[in-house]
Amino acid sequence: MDNKLITIAIDGFSSSGKSTMAKVLAKNIGYAYIDTGAMYRAVTLYCLDNGLIEGDSVDTTRLEKAISSINISFSVNPETGASQTMLNGKNVEHEIRDMRVSGKVSIVAAIPFVRRALVKQQQKMGESKGIVMDGRDIGTVVFPDAEMKVYVDASPETRAKRRFDELKAKGDDSVTYEEVLENVKYRDHLDRTREESPLRKADDAIVLDNSLMTPDEQNQWLLNLYNSIATK
Ligand code: C5P
Repeated sequence: MDNKLITIAIDGFSSSGKSTMAKVLAKNIGYAYIDTGAMYRAVTLYCLDNGLIEGDSVDTTRLEKAISSINISFSVNPETGASQTMLNGKNVEHEIRDMRVSGKVSIVAAIPFVRRALVKQQQKMGESKGIVMDGRDIGTVVFPDAEMKVYVDASPETRAKRRFDELKAKGDDSVTYEEVLENVKYRDHLDRTREESPLRKADDAIVLDNSLMTPDEQNQWLLNLYNSIATK
């Protein structure tokens, strides 16, 4: 029996490993993958590069004027096959993962008109189904009718360790584990308590606590869940 085309929403805290497993699932089942965190990060990079952020405050008047001209897209690197985030035609995949961006992204992501603009684009990207999208509000706001919803959870310490190892593997020695842990906790707090679409588990989402799971175990868990839903 053929699998039916569905929408897959994967939400959870920062550095919960959701992007990695969402990417693997999408590849395994031939679906498109969208990292919505990368979209909020790209808008944040735009703000930083254009002097729209001063301390913790964003010049929302200027940003609101600019928002419709901020073009975010994804392309595939022809050499590595990896997905890269494009901001107004420029590859910013590495820059958007810097601590400079991580430190401000939750402030930018809390701005209602930014969320409205990005959610609209995300809904368009997924309108034909066959998509795996990860973020904070995919199962609650972007695709409340998604057939498969997963909410990924892991302790702040586990997530900070993962993020720290990732940065180190990329040769970034500029931050300590404690600083990464602080950033993870800070973003958790902002993401959970903001007024507009705070991070919360959709009522019909299935929780995956992957603190003690290997990447292979997570990938298999996700694939099994997909098979049980898409073949029904
Ligand atoms: O997933 P990632 O950690 O890269 O996301 C960066 C930030 O973007 C999050 O901390 C959150 O503030 C914001 N975000 C969001 N809604 C999404 C995806 C990300 O608010 N759907």
